[in-house]
Order: sequence, then structure tokens, then C-alpha cells
Amino acid sequence: MKIGIDIGGSHIGIGLVDEFGKLLTKKEKELIKEEKQNIENKIEEILINLINEILIENNIEIKQIQRIGVAVPGRVDNNGIINTRNLNFHDYNLKQIIQKKFDTEIIIRNDAKAAALCEKKYGVLKDYSEAIFLGLGTGIGGAVFLDNKLQTCKNTQGFEIGHIILVKDGLECNCGKRGCFEQYASMKVFKNKIKEKLKLDEKTTGKEIVKILENDSKICQDIIKEYISNLEAGIASLVEIFEPEIIALGGSFSYYENILLEPLKQELDKSKSRVLKRVKPKIVIAKYKNDAGIIGVTI
Ligand SMILES: [Zn+2]
Repeated sequence: MKIGIDIGGSHIGIGLVDEFGKLLTKKEKELIKEEKQNIENKIEEILINLINEILIENNIEIKQIQRIGVAVPGRVDNNGIINTRNLNFHDYNLKQIIQKKFDTEIIIRNDAKAAALCEKKYGVLKDYSEAIFLGLGTGIGGAVFLDNKLQTCKNTQGFEIGHIILVKDGLECNCGKRGCFEQYASMKVFKNKIKEKLKLDEKTTGKEIVKILENDSKICQDIIKEYISNLEAGIASLVEIFEPEIIALGGSFSYYENILLEPLKQELDKSKSRVLKRVKPKIVIAKYKNDAGIIGVTI
């Protein structure tokens, strides 16, 4: 049995996963503002408490756990050190901190790579050797499989697709550059524009926004159009480089399937890109949604 943990922008999910990738039990903790602002000091206590709770509640001892995997947004190097500007981790050795407390294998993995591995082994990418996973949420994470193999860089897990430049000298990004893909096509950007246009409260949840748009998407047609156009531009570039058979869209994008998927497919169909016309990648919604990171980090 393994423990999978997914640290997101606003909450942490933790679950017990069996050898077949089945999520046996799961619990979630919302991160309060003070915890988010002070994440490097708080995370050790939060994770240790969550791991102990899940062990006690399920009557399991740590020696029965073959691995604790943690999925985090941002760049992860081969020693488990993370840099996550969206969550304020700077050269933080998360692996060492958990290893001190729990005597088992500890794996730290970029959250998009974890979700992608889950989709590749059990989900929508299972039958394809050339595949891309895009995690569209607070930022944009990505993973690329060529010949069935998850691609990584020499020193880090790399493939930070959200930081390819879409607009030269465009909007400032927390990676130090300007005009990155995630500044134009993350779900955070999309949701903030909807909130602004409809004068919705800052605290309006994603679920509430989905409901509003499903009732009447025409009211935000201009925002949807602009968002889809930006997303299509990024995807078209990825197809030029990797020629995938399939692209899975995960993160909170998956909850907007009824609103965003069809317009995206139409936009890709309209593209004049010769490679897109030849490769014609399938565009699908990821299957495992919120559980993908927890399961994928145990693979
Ligand atoms: Zn960037």
C-alpha cells in the first residue's frame, strides 16, 4: 500500500492507494490564508499530521506503507527540492523533511507529471505512446510522453509547458519572464476574467462559475473566445514540437468540459497549421480529475 499526497494552491488531498492504483480512502484539508503565506514553515506539521491521521484512521502502521509520494506544483529537481512560485516554496527540501519522520521511500513529483502518469497507466492516455497532458489550474503544468516514456530533463522533471512564451513582452510572470502561456490560458486567468465581468464576489467558487456559464454561456462569449484562442495557440505550438496522438486536459479545466471543450476543438479544426491538420491529435478531458495527483505520485 502507498500514500499519495497532492498539494494544490488552496488545499491538500491525501489518500491510500493499493497496488492496482485504486484509491482506497481519501481526505482533504483546505489551506487557510495564513498557512499559504507561511507555507515553508507550516507544511511540515500539516503533512506529518495528515499522514499520521490517515495511518491511525485506517489502522495501518508505517512499515506497511511502501512509499509516500507527494505531488507539488512547480519545478522539482532530482533530489526532491522544490521551487514553487505559485505556492512560495524556494529551494525547499520537502523530501528530506518527510524522510526524517517516516521510514519508507519518499517521492516528490511535479503535480502535472503525477496526474499524467495516472492517466497514462489507468486513464485516457493508456492506449497512446505519444501523448501530452496539460494541467490547467492556477498555472499550467505539463507532461510529455514519447514512445510511452515520460520525458524529463537531466536535473529536474522539467517540461514546464506553462512558461513557454505566448506573447513577447506580454504580462509579467512569476518565473521572471513576460508573456508566458499560463498568464493567458490558465484556469485562474479565465475564472478571474469571468468574475470581473460579472462582478462576482472574490470568493465565488469554480463550481458556481460553471453553473452560471452552463445556464448562459453567451454572457461571457467574448472571454471564452479569447481564452480558447490563447489555449489553441499554445497547443498548436506543442503539436509542432511533439506531434502527439492525444492531448489530455486536466486540472480544473475538466469541470468546464461543457463550456470549453467543443469551442477548443472547433478552434483547432479551423487552424491553418499544416502539422495540426496532418497529426490531428485527439483532444480529451482527463478522467481522474482531483484524484489524478494522489494516484499518480504512487506510480
Ligand atoms: Zn513564466
